[in-house]
Amino acid sequence: MKTMKGYLPHLAVTGLAIAVAGCATTASYQPTWEADKEYKVTILHTNDHHGRFWQNRNGEYGMAARKTLIDNIREEVALNGGASLLLSGGDINTGVPESDLQDAEPDFRGMKLLQYDAMALGNHEFDNSRNVLMKQREWAGFPFLSANILVKETGEPLFDAYKIFDINNLKIAVMGFTTDDTVKIGNPEYLEDLSILPPAEVAKTLVPELEKKADLIVAATHMGHYKDGNYGGNAPGDVTLARTVPGIDVIVGGHSQNPLFEPDVQSGTLILQAHEWGKYVGRLDLVIKNGEITSSEYRLIPVNLKKKVKDAEGNSVRVFIEDEIEQDPEMLDLLTPFQAKGQKELSVEIGFSNDDFIGERGVVRKQETNLGNLIALAMKEKVNADIGVMNSGGIRDNLPKGIVTYKSVLQVQPFGNTVSYVDLTAAELTDYLSVVGGKQAGSGAFGQFSGVAFTQVGDKATNIVVNGAPLDTSKTYRVAINNYVATGGDGYPKVTDHPNYVNSGYVDADVMVEYIQNNYPLDGAKYAPTGAVKR
Ligand SMILES: [Zn+2]
Repeated sequence: MKTMKGYLPHLAVTGLAIAVAGCATTASYQPTWEADKEYKVTILHTNDHHGRFWQNRNGEYGMAARKTLIDNIREEVALNGGASLLLSGGDINTGVPESDLQDAEPDFRGMKLLQYDAMALGNHEFDNSRNVLMKQREWAGFPFLSANILVKETGEPLFDAYKIFDINNLKIAVMGFTTDDTVKIGNPEYLEDLSILPPAEVAKTLVPELEKKADLIVAATHMGHYKDGNYGGNAPGDVTLARTVPGIDVIVGGHSQNPLFEPDVQSGTLILQAHEWGKYVGRLDLVIKNGEITSSEYRLIPVNLKKKVKDAEGNSVRVFIEDEIEQDPEMLDLLTPFQAKGQKELSVEIGFSNDDFIGERGVVRKQETNLGNLIALAMKEKVNADIGVMNSGGIRDNLPKGIVTYKSVLQVQPFGNTVSYVDLTAAELTDYLSVVGGKQAGSGAFGQFSGVAFTQVGDKATNIVVNGAPLDTSKTYRVAINNYVATGGDGYPKVTDHPNYVNSGYVDADVMVEYIQNNYPLDGAKYAPTGAVKR
C-alpha cells in the first residue's frame, strides 16, 4: 500500500522562503535523505494504559513483559538497518488503585525505562492537579505532546505541539492531539486555565507547516477511533481528523480503547490503535523511498494474553494465545517495590463509618439500602447529575461499620466499571425509569436510586419527582449510571448511542473512595431508605 502526501522532494522547496505562523521567516526545508534509498522505520505504540504497570492476576500484560517484547523488536529492527519509534496514545492515568494511589509514578518511570519517544496527552492526564502532571513529566523524561491544549494566558501549548525526530537522516514529525471532550469529562478545576481547541482546526495549519520540516508526519492522538467517522455523542475522532486534514501519514490513536487489527486507512492516512492497558503492542513497519511510504506492514502483538480452554479432565484453564513473553528483570526490579507499596496503601484508612452499610446480595437485590443510596449519590455528585441509578448486581458486599479502606470499597465495587452520564428529556427519562423501575426484585438489575422518587405501575414510571420537584417537560435531566448498564447490561436501556451520552472514565470504586474521603464519618441515617420508589 502507498500513502501520498503530495510532497515533492528537493527542487520543489529549494530556494523558497516560507512564512510560518508565529515566525517571521523560516529556512526552506532541504530533505537529507538519499534519492532512491529505502528507509525502514518501525512505529511501536500503546494507548490507554490506565495504571496497568503490573500484570493482572492471570499473568496477562504488564510492563515487564512489554519491555522484553519491545527490546526484542528494536534489536531485530536495528539488525535489519531500520529504526524504531515508541509512541503512546495517552491516558496513562486512572484505573488501578495501586497506580492511582502513587500518582502513576510506577507507570511513568516504567515508560521511561521502556524509552518511549513521545506521548499524546489524554483526558485522564487531567484527573490530577497540574503539580502531579508536571511531576509525571519529570518521571517520564520524554515529551508530552498536545497541539490543541493551550494555556489561555499565553496562547501557547501547555507542553509541546510536536517534536521532530531525526532518524537515519529521515525527519519524522510527531504531533499530539487531545480530544476536545476533555473539557466535558476532565476535572474542571484542573482545566480552568486551559483552552482546548478542536484538533482538526489546529492540524489544518500545523500539518502544512510540518510538511516543510519533515518527511513523515505522524499524529499521536487521544481522540478515539469511531468507525466510518460516526462519533455519536463524542467529539470527532481520528477518522474525522484524517478525512478533514490531508497530509497526515500515520495516526497512532487512543481513547476509544478498541483494537484495530488492521490499520483503518482514511484518505491515505493509516489509523492505528492498540486496544488498552498494554494488552497489545502495535507494530507498524514502513519502508520510505523518495519521501513516500512505499510499503507498510502492521500487527497487534498480544502481551501474554490468554484464552480459556478445556483441559483433558474438562476443566477450564487459561493458556497463552501466543508464545509466553518473559518478564524483563530490570523492569521487575523497578516496579516490584511500587506494587508492594500500592498494595499496602490499599489497607490504609480512608474514612470511617458509624453504621453498617448493606450491600449483601440477598438484601440489596430486593430493596432500597443505605449502601445503594450512597453509591447512587456518589455517582450523581461526581458528574453533576440530577439522578443517580445503580444496578444492585454491581454491589458485591457490605461496607461494615468502622474503619473504611480502599480495599473494603473494592470489595463492594470490584468490577472497575466507569461512571457515565446521559442527558435525557423528561419523556426520555420517563421511558428510562419505566424500564429500570420494572426490574424484578431479586435480580441484579434491581435498581438503587438517588435524586428521584416515582411510583412504578406495571411497566410505567409515574408521579416522577426529581430532587423534590415534579417532572418538568421543558427540562433535560442528567442521569449518572455505570458504563455496564449504559451499554445495555442487566437489560437497562442502551444509551451509549445517545448523542448526550458521556463516559467520564472515572472508576466506580475511585468515585466511592473520593466520596467517603469527603463525607466521613458516614452516618447511616443520612442514607437510610426512604421508600422513594414505590413498586
Ligand atoms: Zn481517554
